[in-house]
Amino acid sequence: MVETLKARGPTGFIQFGPHYLTVDHGRIFRPDMSLVGLLHDDGLIQGAADPLGPWPGLKTIEELPGAQFKGIDSLGLQLHLPGPASGPTGGLLYNKKVSLNVIFGRIATQDHRRVGEMADDGTISVYDQRFPGVLRRLDENSQLSTTFQGIKSNGTPWQHEFTRSIHRTDKTYWENEVMRYFEDIERVNQAQRLYVFDTLRLYAMAGLLQVVRKQEGVAGLGNVKHGAAGVTGVRSGNVTLDRVEFENEVGWYKKFGAFMHIPITALRPYIESRLNLVVAHEYGHQLEFCLSQAVQEKITELHQRRLRTADRLHPPPASDFEDGAELLLPQHLEERIFISGYSRTSWHEYWAEAVGAFAVPVGRAELRKRDPEVYQIMCDVILRPEQVLRVNLQEAMLSLQASLRLGGEMPDNILEM
Ligand SMILES: [Zn+2]
Repeated sequence: MVETLKARGPTGFIQFGPHYLTVDHGRIFRPDMSLVGLLHDDGLIQGAADPLGPWPGLKTIEELPGAQFKGIDSLGLQLHLPGPASGPTGGLLYNKKVSLNVIFGRIATQDHRRVGEMADDGTISVYDQRFPGVLRRLDENSQLSTTFQGIKSNGTPWQHEFTRSIHRTDKTYWENEVMRYFEDIERVNQAQRLYVFDTLRLYAMAGLLQVVRKQEGVAGLGNVKHGAAGVTGVRSGNVTLDRVEFENEVGWYKKFGAFMHIPITALRPYIESRLNLVVAHEYGHQLEFCLSQAVQEKITELHQRRLRTADRLHPPPASDFEDGAELLLPQHLEERIFISGYSRTSWHEYWAEAVGAFAVPVGRAELRKRDPEVYQIMCDVILRPEQVLRVNLQEAMLSLQASLRLGGEMPDNILEM
């Protein structure tokens, strides 16, 4: 029976009373090399022969008085069983969909992979899938809905529930975050709702929308013609989008998609490439303040370099023209320097337009092709936030992402979705 199971598990030694057993990738051997059982990373043992049973099903290593395992788990990380700390035992449902086991405080998947630890007070830490062996302690911001049923380490029955605040249980994490960020979501029509969800989805799924909202503020509609929040480089906290401009933008997005090319009537035949992603753009201004100094300087430098190239290849058509956007002759559209004409106006707008473009698949593809350096920074923002965010935001972001990955909210192919 044991022989038929695939060998995957810890490697090391079990001391159990007078017995000294070898463990090789989960298979437990007596000194005469006869197979006597199977050990999993989470400390569950299938006993098949003396001195381990045989017993039906699985036992925890804690159930074998005095038994100890020392070695490494299937990932090669140090493993001591029982662990130094104990904790509850039972079933844990994470994010309403991921069914986990808790064994004396060790949180494991159904196939026995270790994914975290739980204490008797309900505190949860999860392993960061990107940094093997690193545990991230969750708090009310990073923890997803949790239901536990079982016993505490002292044996008393225990039921525990954690629910996120202001969270609609019929919606996913990312939908909830979009609704919290965009305050007027219930006051816009269906097309506008879809637009907001569509263009904020990536940032919400990656946890970035939440971290930036907590640091900077939310977004809503108002009457701020040509103002928006993008008073360039001035920290304004919340974003206010002009209602009429927002409505126009959604209409253009529906009709033309993320990009459109508009003729400059006063300067025929010049055209300007335009992005219809105002919500993600304004969010980009908030995100700018969450970037490290080094990354902000890098963006400034990238903008200046592009500006020089654009000035040389696509000089403004008239000396008294002060719009600041990159204007193009139709035949130059394909070799434009900036992702959108507006990106030329300042490094703040250059960045905000990049965040806008990156929000949707077609924009990411265009950014990757036209501006691979800023595209790379955006990839880092989503996938390697510790390299680009301000130091004070990194821990919150990494804990949240570890939690989102465990909860099935942040897939590995998030940028391909
Ligand atoms: Zn702006």
